[in-house]
Amino acid sequence: MQFAPVCKGCIALGAKNPVPLSGPASYVMRLLGVRRSRMNPNICTYCEAHFQPGTNKQYQTVTATVLFADIRGYTTLSLQINSDLMAGVLSQIYDQVAQVVWAHDGVVNKFIGDAVLAIFDFPILREDAEVQAVAAAFGIVQAVRDLAPKILPQLDATALAVGIGIHTGELTVGKIGEVGADVTAIGPTVNLASRLQGAAGPGEVLVSASTYQAISVSFPAAEERRCSLKGIPEPVQAYALKVN
Ligand SMILES: [Zn+2]
Repeated sequence: MQFAPVCKGCIALGAKNPVPLSGPASYVMRLLGVRRSRMNPNICTYCEAHFQPGTNKQYQTVTATVLFADIRGYTTLSLQINSDLMAGVLSQIYDQVAQVVWAHDGVVNKFIGDAVLAIFDFPILREDAEVQAVAAAFGIVQAVRDLAPKILPQLDATALAVGIGIHTGELTVGKIGEVGADVTAIGPTVNLASRLQGAAGPGEVLVSASTYQAISVSFPAAEERRCSLKGIPEPVQAYALKVN
């Protein structure tokens, strides 16, 4: 995969001098502590964390699309194979998932065990971010489906199926707190995306109404569904997309 020579986040923010990510000028930036982000190699670590230039505030509230994915067969599988082999399996999956997210201009905020949290439309701003997020979701389901029989030939392809939840709304992103200064994303939008993921079946992408209104033209085959979600009092209207 070819990475961007100049930070796409800086460009999206309208910076006059976007941070160079390759070539001699990038060495200077690295000396200054600014390098390619591990969450998306097409953006710089400045865009990743210093959301409000000129202030010390390292977090901000933005409107973005959150994608949660997790592996359905994980618990069963982790009982069948040893943790060393499992680590190898997860590492290959993480790698594939990250490539797919980056190809759609998202950032991989976190891998949490068998789950992935990705964000679209921040810091790389895109008009079609919701469509990109859903396209990435399809790509993730397909990538894991293709990878499963290769890394675990003794299992059938459905043993490692992925369920995905996507929601668009406000969230707070940045370095929150002093300890373990990782970039994190919090807020009800993140929670709802996570709950939708919990309700998604294997090989299914469950999107909220706010995401769906931006993608309905591109993905007309969605099935409307009312979901009772853990921790949310009222049933939530969602749209299910099946990856064939
Ligand atoms: Zn940047």
